[in-house]
Amino acid sequence: MSKYTPKFDLLGCHEIHGEFVSAKDAQAAIQALEQRIAKLEQELDESNKRLLDLRDKLYVRFLDYRGLAVDEACKCCSGSGVRVYANTSAWRGGIGGQAMTTDVCDKCWGSGNKNKPWLNLRRFSNQLGR
Ligand SMILES: [Zn+2]
Repeated sequence: MSKYTPKFDLLGCHEIHGEFVSAKDAQAAIQALEQRIAKLEQELDESNKRLLDLRDKLYVRFLDYRGLAVDEACKCCSGSGVRVYANTSAWRGGIGGQAMTTDVCDKCWGSGNKNKPWLNLRRFSNQLGR
C-alpha cells in the first residue's frame, strides 16, 4: 500500500522544513530559515570557542595542581607524567606484547616537568643489571 502524497505544488504550496507555505511566502520562509541557520552556526562557533577556552583553563589548573607552570610542562606527556606506549614493554624497550600500555613518561620520568626529571628508570635498571 503506497502512502498518498498530495501535490501541494499544484496548489501553489511548498513544503519547507515540515511546514507548508504558499508559493508567495516561500521566499520569505527560505530567508527566515537561512537566517536561523546562520544564527545557529554563530552560536556553535561561540560554544566551540568557549569550550576551547575552558579546556585551556582546565589544563592550566591541572598543571598548577602538579606544581607546574605551562612552560615547564614536559612536551612528551603534557605534564601528566604518564604516556601511552605502543606495546607492553613501555619505557623498557625490547620485545613487548601488542597492546597499548600506559606507563611512566620516559622523558620526565613522572615529574611532568621538562626541567626537573625524576629518577631515570632505564638508567637505574641498567645499573642494577636488569
Ligand atoms: Zn613527561
